[in-house]
Amino acid sequence: MAKSEFISPFRPYFLEAASYVLSGKIGGGKVPQERIRVISQGESVNPGGSVLYWMHMNRRWSWNFAIDRLLEWRAQGLQNVIVLETLPFHQVLTDRHAAFVMQGMQEFEGLAECGPFIYRAQSRKCGQVIVKYVQDLAKTVDVLIVDDHPDRDYRHFLDDLPNHTSARIEAIDSCGLIPFRSASRFFPTARGFRRLVRSHLAESLFALPDPRSLIERFDSPQRPNKPLWIGWLKDHEAIMAPQQAVRELPIDHSAAVVSTPGGPSAARKRWREFRETSLEHYPERRNHPDENGVSGMAPYLHFGFISPYEMVVDLLKRAVEMRWSCEQSPEDARPEIWWNLPPCVAEFLDQLVVWRELGLNLCLHCDNYDHFESLPEWARRTLAKHAFDPRPVTYTLEQLEFAQTHDRVWNAAQNELREEGRLHNYLRMLWGKKIVEWTRDPQTALEWMIFLNNKYGLDGSDPNSYTGITWILGRYDRAWGPERPIFGLVRYMSTDNARRKLRLKKYLERYAPEIKESQS
Ligand SMILES: Cc1cc2nc3c(=O)[nH]c(=O)nc-3n(C[C@H](O)[C@H](O)[C@H](O)COP(=O)(O)OP(=O)(O)OC[C@H]3O[C@@H](n4cnc5c(N)ncnc54)[C@H](O)[C@@H]3O)c2cc1C
Repeated sequence: MAKSEFISPFRPYFLEAASYVLSGKIGGGKVPQERIRVISQGESVNPGGSVLYWMHMNRRWSWNFAIDRLLEWRAQGLQNVIVLETLPFHQVLTDRHAAFVMQGMQEFEGLAECGPFIYRAQSRKCGQVIVKYVQDLAKTVDVLIVDDHPDRDYRHFLDDLPNHTSARIEAIDSCGLIPFRSASRFFPTARGFRRLVRSHLAESLFALPDPRSLIERFDSPQRPNKPLWIGWLKDHEAIMAPQQAVRELPIDHSAAVVSTPGGPSAARKRWREFRETSLEHYPERRNHPDENGVSGMAPYLHFGFISPYEMVVDLLKRAVEMRWSCEQSPEDARPEIWWNLPPCVAEFLDQLVVWRELGLNLCLHCDNYDHFESLPEWARRTLAKHAFDPRPVTYTLEQLEFAQTHDRVWNAAQNELREEGRLHNYLRMLWGKKIVEWTRDPQTALEWMIFLNNKYGLDGSDPNSYTGITWILGRYDRAWGPERPIFGLVRYMSTDNARRKLRLKKYLERYAPEIKESQS
């Protein structure tokens, strides 16, 4: 890593940046160069031509650098502004994922009716059909804007796109606080990555995307005039009834729609509730399933319904309400505890910015991030040494999927995942460790964890799915003694210990009520 990746000293600079943001000076600047990746220069951009934003990863109309870039092109004379949204093609798609995305499309459909641009949601195409569809549409515009993201399949799709169009193609990074390509290497520890994040956070706060929505910012009532767009049929009916619509899609129907609503409004509602009722207690309650002390924001962040920029600004505002001041002298603000921010805000920021963005770093720099071979050398060695250890208990994938184990806590966690599409943070770790214990080898455990997590989790197929799952097998962790069967030096977790440490009586009653207490 180049030394310049760490800017030091960064302490007073952060307070200055926080003060700038808190005074309301957000957005309005140019999209930072490090957020724009020109994938293809294209042939020429015709004045009066078209700019299309394919909104695929960051499904929101504000706090989004891609929207800012769209308007920059509009200011340069491109008349037709089109936003296209499709179902995701790059991730495991089940009824629950598709319906969650369509609920977001519903909201935009309403907005676009009164807007001066064209918004089209395409909710009937899936998988490789979308790939071909976007490739064909790209041929008809002057500039194509896409979301930048380090997911492997998506990256490969973007790399191939210039072979199908002569349009200019720009990938815009609105994923996290730190432009994910600015970290030029893989970080094997959260500690090292935290240093990078803290040294760059101030810079990012000075250059946030615009908080206003596209509609508020559009300057002219003129509608796009190309016949092409007028000919588009809307998927209105399907989008307004996602529960039925998903059944007609050629996707996996065995993970049913869940009650958590999708879309930016639902994301903001959940975020407000958490800030108002639970944030203050986050450090004490986040590990206890009975306490409902976590935010539940992961699915909304995964689909980009809410931006981490908005969340960080809200966290700073909340810190001020809790009497934190960015006016305090730099000597008082110790960066190792996040500039003396209230502990709940500091702890949440650490998860939201450091741990979340570590996933982006992994996926960008480690192409086989979901393979056993990508694990740290010490972990592979110790797991291989114990790969043939006898497993006192083993289960089939089907038994795991339907929570038919002897362990009531594990069954409750798996039931929560299968029935509701979420899995409590602490139990997610225990859930993974037990799968390692109960499968024939660590490679199979990895494969099954990925399958169950991505099929049932609303937040599945995320970079953090892979940081989390591979953490189970030693990534970002260190060797722990004593050496044990099956795990070797990889950290072990026991259900008995979880039961002692966690408050989960109500949780067990809710998610594993019928099973009598037995050994775990
Ligand atoms: C086996 C396993 C599988 C996982 N699978 C996923 C997954 O599919 N999708 C996913 O987003 N996360 C996954 N995680 C990481 C973490 O468990 C979830 O991000 C967290 O539980 C989400 O719940 P929340 O939004 O209520 O989190 P909160 O505690 O409220 O945290 C707020 C946000 O910070 C981020 N965050 C919190 N904890 C972590 C973490 N450990 N790693 C990375 N980011 C974090 C998330 O964006 C989260 O939404 C997994 C972890 C493990 C151990």
